[in-house]
Amino acid sequence: MQEIQKLKNIIKISNAYKIAFWIEELVINLAGLETTLWQEDNNDICDLINELINNGFKAELTTNWSTLWKFSKKLAKSGLSKCRISIPSFDRNIYKNITGRDGLYWVLEGIKNFRESNVKIIINRPLLKGFTDDIPICLDFIWKENLTLKLYDLWRTKRINNNYNRYYIHRSEIIDKYIKNNSKFIEEKELNFNRNRILYNLVGGGIVDIKVFDSEKHNQSHNCKTCIFKKKCKETFASYINIFSDWYLKFCNLREDIFLDLNPFLGNNVNEKELGEFLRTKLNNILGPNSQEKIKDVDLCFYINNICNHKCSFPDIKKDINSLWCLSSVRSNEELWY
Ligand code: SF4
Repeated sequence: MQEIQKLKNIIKISNAYKIAFWIEELVINLAGLETTLWQEDNNDICDLINELINNGFKAELTTNWSTLWKFSKKLAKSGLSKCRISIPSFDRNIYKNITGRDGLYWVLEGIKNFRESNVKIIINRPLLKGFTDDIPICLDFIWKENLTLKLYDLWRTKRINNNYNRYYIHRSEIIDKYIKNNSKFIEEKELNFNRNRILYNLVGGGIVDIKVFDSEKHNQSHNCKTCIFKKKCKETFASYINIFSDWYLKFCNLREDIFLDLNPFLGNNVNEKELGEFLRTKLNNILGPNSQEKIKDVDLCFYINNICNHKCSFPDIKKDINSLWCLSSVRSNEELWY
């Protein structure tokens, strides 16, 4: 079933969150499935971004960029601060086999044309074993367009468990083979609560940004220490706060059993202050002491819809529900309408 998040609820929750945790500049990340397909009455994704900015938030977007030709002019003027674009391969045929669309050329052209805007562009690149020979082309693009590239390992989820080892490749193999020798200097960035990062500043320009799994922080989290998925998991509890189109707030990818149901707080009978009070109390209970400080370092992310025009699946096996590896598709229960 197609579900979207209503604009007025996104604004209400964002305001309540800001009040609850006294965050001066709250960043709202809009994710999807495909965010540019979001529509409510006559409002499109640009209207949603405008509304967030008019309410004092910073807005960031994750997209596959396939329909951006429709929005790019409006989006360039919208005040959007960051755009994350998912490109699973820079090889035309592999891109087509993974996404189901022969659209790589137009995605790359769209990015080049969008460089005039002030929006920071990040390319999100998931890694699949056996399908990484295009990385030099990818680096060439990053260098020429002076962009940031983020490399991601494949996430283990129940749906792809049987194929996981066949396609999993650790990003260190790619870094050793292609990136270290092309870097002029390397920076380490330590964040307080959630993610540490390593930045490889490329010789020709552009940056490769790697998220580092910190086992020490992982073990400091009470929820992670006692979790049955601990050995298979590569994230830390509450390093993101995610709100899905069913208005359930969740803290990590595998623990669907730990959530807050925000539905009872979205009607006119509950105001932002009351919702903020609920969020503060519950998050303090779940995250423990100093949650106020932790929350300031965590992105608030809305999964604004559960539809996509790409079906990101393993490129060389039969396409069915178990070949879809896109984490958003898992989290948005894409199997319900596949
Ligand atoms: S599944 Fe969640 S709670 Fe469990 S180890 Fe991973 S991040 Fe921690």
